[in-house]
Amino acid sequence: MSALQDWLPVKDKSKVEPDAPAPKKTAPHSTPKPSFPIGYFLFLGGILLVFNFLIPKTQAGFIEYSAFKQKVRDREIKRVEIGPDLIVGFPRSSADSAKRAAGPVNGQPGPGKSAPNIDPDGKKPSFQAIPVTDGGLVGLLDSMGVEYYSRAQGGNAFTRVFFNWILPAVFFMGLWMLLLPRLGGGGGGAGLFALGKSRAHIVEEGEVRVTFDDVAGVDEAKDELKELIDFLKSPAKYLAIGGRVPKGVLLVGPPGTGKTLLARATAGEAKVPFFRISGSDFVEMIVGVGAARVRDLFKQAREKAPCIVFIDELDAIGKSRTNLLGGHDEREQTLNQLLVEMDGFDPRVGVIILAATNRPETLDSALLRPGRFDRHVVVDKPDLPGREAILRTHSRGVKMDPSVELSAIARKTPGFAGADLANLINEAALLAVKSGRERVLQEDLDEAIEKVMAGLKKRNRIITAKEKERVAHHEIGHALMATFTPGSDPVEKVSIIPRGLGALGFTWQLPTEERFLMTEKEMLGRIDVLIGGRAAEEVMFGDVSTGAANDLGRATEIARQMVMDHGMNDRFRNVVLRSPKSGALSGVPQESLGPREYSESTQQYVDERIASIMKDRYTGAIRLLKEKKDLLERAARRLLEKETLSEQEFRSLIQEDALLHHAGAANG
Ligand code: ADP
Ligand code: ZN
Ligand code: MG
Repeated sequence: MSALQDWLPVKDKSKVEPDAPAPKKTAPHSTPKPSFPIGYFLFLGGILLVFNFLIPKTQAGFIEYSAFKQKVRDREIKRVEIGPDLIVGFPRSSADSAKRAAGPVNGQPGPGKSAPNIDPDGKKPSFQAIPVTDGGLVGLLDSMGVEYYSRAQGGNAFTRVFFNWILPAVFFMGLWMLLLPRLGGGGGGAGLFALGKSRAHIVEEGEVRVTFDDVAGVDEAKDELKELIDFLKSPAKYLAIGGRVPKGVLLVGPPGTGKTLLARATAGEAKVPFFRISGSDFVEMIVGVGAARVRDLFKQAREKAPCIVFIDELDAIGKSRTNLLGGHDEREQTLNQLLVEMDGFDPRVGVIILAATNRPETLDSALLRPGRFDRHVVVDKPDLPGREAILRTHSRGVKMDPSVELSAIARKTPGFAGADLANLINEAALLAVKSGRERVLQEDLDEAIEKVMAGLKKRNRIITAKEKERVAHHEIGHALMATFTPGSDPVEKVSIIPRGLGALGFTWQLPTEERFLMTEKEMLGRIDVLIGGRAAEEVMFGDVSTGAANDLGRATEIARQMVMDHGMNDRFRNVVLRSPKSGALSGVPQESLGPREYSESTQQYVDERIASIMKDRYTGAIRLLKEKKDLLERAARRLLEKETLSEQEFRSLIQEDALLHHAGAANG
């Protein structure tokens, strides 16, 4: 009973919770980021600055080049040192003891240490000037008898190279390494060189300790995965017979139902390496890196085969490409690379790709094509026994008082997913500690339910007992109509486990054969089944609810198609009445459909015809359900108890009823 999702035809089975709250983005498993080494870089920067100040600018001792030449002519200068950008002249007075080799070290505007304009022996100031390109200087010096020699740049070659080149280079490299991981969405400590490396986590063989025993309440999903495990354990057996094992299996289900856990447990059971990467790791990455990571991931996987590659939160990269405006280059590249890798490897190497999503309807259809994720495993919210099993699993490591009854807790927690139940046990343990006890009591668990439920209520996932009763009758109404309408598909499953926003229950029918055509009777039968939910509410409670909105919309649409598109009406038998309305589902904008091609009175007829079909079918459904009222009640009660009825359980209810009535008829 729902506005959105209640009546899922089996083809849409994979559609789970289109409105489910977005999955909690847990931090992707990653190596802890190195702490921000800002101090280090401030220090380096500081050193650079200080040296910049220390560099002797030596402006004081400078004279103009012309003055310098004049001093040579005036014989004030005895010896000249010619550098590429500085020229130093030493005064004549101390000339006798001058030692060339110990000449002043510095003087050029590079970094230096000793005061440059002191002559080492005479402590006399020297004359410095910036040379001008001047071919005549040497001639002048010769004529004046001045000693001169050329000096290579700078004094200490090492310090010069270090401060001019190495230090800034180190500084900028450091800055780059600091920034890159941020650009790269967190490359972790691997930094620079591991940029394209996949961050998929490899858990080596034997290290995955999780097994199917740790996953409870999802037996159907486990059964489907057992085949994969068998293949991974002994691939030869399958290859010998030439069987094709699926490459990709998609785990589909609401958040917190244990998809990630199940993937890990599959690797644990098969005892193979497990590579996990999350789709959200690829988001916000620099272009090209995502694709490189996918490539690297598969390369690693091939080396370790047989193994499992698990892509968590596939929807983050696998979103349909068509519904994007302008596109998202990086994601698209990553997705394309994933498709290429999936197509490119031979399933015989023994790499099995598992993926998980809670929004399969958003996935790009290319991902779901044969040879890719063509097999889906539904991981649903647990039913009553499932919840009890999960509670049991999680209370293994917790000290529980022997008086605790987990089944009672399971009964009180419909709509809880595995993660909610794990959370519940943990909360209860915390509450026990808080009250100074060493064992968890029932009251702790009860209080924990309240706590967890308060959180869930905010997310709209819990309904009242009264609503639940109505939902149960509504769903059984659908199921009974499906059972007693000739030619209708048999009921596969009935459930009142809330399935996210707006979906309070559902009934699945399994088509017995592929259908391409529908007869008039079958279309009417479909309307009967859709309308059965509301009819059951009316029969049981005397009034109806808003829960049938979606059912009614779909039923009305079928009636409209019958009358207008398929000529299934008395007055316009075999006449197609084209109108804007008949294109309602085609998505064509109204104005482009043109004017309707029939008269006002025909429109009136169509409206009345649709209304009368709906009325007839509703009356028929009420009549049938009134007749079966005790079956309706009994089945609804059973559904309330168990929350989910399988095909067999439902069928045995029907058979019991038939026997009862038969016996009653024979007696009376
Ligand atoms: P999903 O990937 O479907 O969102 P997870 O696998 O991350 O859910 O589940 C989160 C946690 O909830 C698990 O680590 C586990 O502790 C608990 N949990 C969920 N489902 C189950 C389950 N079926 N059985 C046992 N524990 C479960
Ligand atoms: Zn319904
Ligand atoms: Mg998960």
